[in-house]
Amino acid sequence: MKTIPDSGVLYPNSFVHHLLLALEDVLGKNGVKAILNMAGQSAMIDNYPPDDMTPGVDIARYSSIIAALDDMYGDRGAQALALKAGNVLFRETMKKTGDPLNVESDEFKAKSLEDKVESALLMIWNFVNRSSETKMPRTADGQFLYVASKCPICYGRETKTPRCFLTTGLLQAAIRYATGLEFPVTQVKAHSCGDPSCDYVIPVVPNS
Ligand SMILES: [Zn+2]
Repeated sequence: MKTIPDSGVLYPNSFVHHLLLALEDVLGKNGVKAILNMAGQSAMIDNYPPDDMTPGVDIARYSSIIAALDDMYGDRGAQALALKAGNVLFRETMKKTGDPLNVESDEFKAKSLEDKVESALLMIWNFVNRSSETKMPRTADGQFLYVASKCPICYGRETKTPRCFLTTGLLQAAIRYATGLEFPVTQVKAHSCGDPSCDYVIPVVPNS
């Protein structure tokens, strides 16, 4: 596998810690060992980054781990695994944060479906970017647009089609938590395809 040189951009330890635990959930401990070896990250075997928000892991290492997943399981297999891992990642993060949107409250229940989806997307965006935006951008035809400008999944990689399925799974899980429904999340752009950012489009109505 091609080595991805360090970028100088560091990602919080906790995000990598939970990525590896989520991968363990879908691949088993030995599966993660094999992935870390293949990714040139054997130093992380039995030595995961700690569960804290210190920026300690170069995003090139994160993308190497995902690239190894693609190499080892093939496009289709890795897609299914990454989607699953994204869902686990959400579930595990929620165990720590509780119920940040207070989805059982009367106030939240009174929101429109569209507002619920927007709340879910903002929750993830603000968490990852450590910001406090209150509106999601939209596409020209009114769908939600989720833009990841520094994507740790495909940094330094080249893919024929957008493949940041970990984020797709994470967004699907967040919307499911907020609405109880399945929404399609479609990645339309990727760094690894030469685009300036990794973009996802989410409709304001669920799957029919
Ligand atoms: Zn990406």
